[in-house]
Amino acid sequence: MKVTKEDVIEYYEKAGIALSDDDKENIQIMDYGLNKLNKLGLQLFVYVNTDRYCAKELVLFPEQTCPEHRHPPVDGQEGKEETFRCRYGKVYLYVEGEKTEAPAVMPPDEDIEHFTVWHEIQLTPGEQFTIPPDTKHWFKAGSEGAVVTEFSSTSTDDHDVFTDPRI
Ligand code: ZN
Repeated sequence: MKVTKEDVIEYYEKAGIALSDDDKENIQIMDYGLNKLNKLGLQLFVYVNTDRYCAKELVLFPEQTCPEHRHPPVDGQEGKEETFRCRYGKVYLYVEGEKTEAPAVMPPDEDIEHFTVWHEIQLTPGEQFTIPPDTKHWFKAGSEGAVVTEFSSTSTDDHDVFTDPRI
């Protein structure tokens, strides 16, 4: 089934987030070239991205996983630092650190070799977590999907380093 911007907008509506027509037009649907969006992917629009700061509104469909990656230093600047705040649903975030013995969720079976960090943080609406620069992380929505606001330093997506060499 083809995913459309309308499918993404539904989640913003559930979260009570108002979008302008421009925002709606600028929604990005990313499958990272893996062609299995419903399992591995991310949807978002960018509120602002300057050479000093950035804010985005992320949508994850139910049980969708954003692949593991990190934000390395760029041009002598520390890598991107991100704060995720959950607005709707539930998001399971995994970062470097002590392994959580029984993770609440798992990445897709067939892709698990490309996931290496297992310190779990669960976020429900009103909860937030800050991911330090150059720290591997991945995240997955629960059964209702999730809407997550991302506040960060400048975003330069083409510098992101994914664990999965196919990306
Ligand atoms: Zn990130």
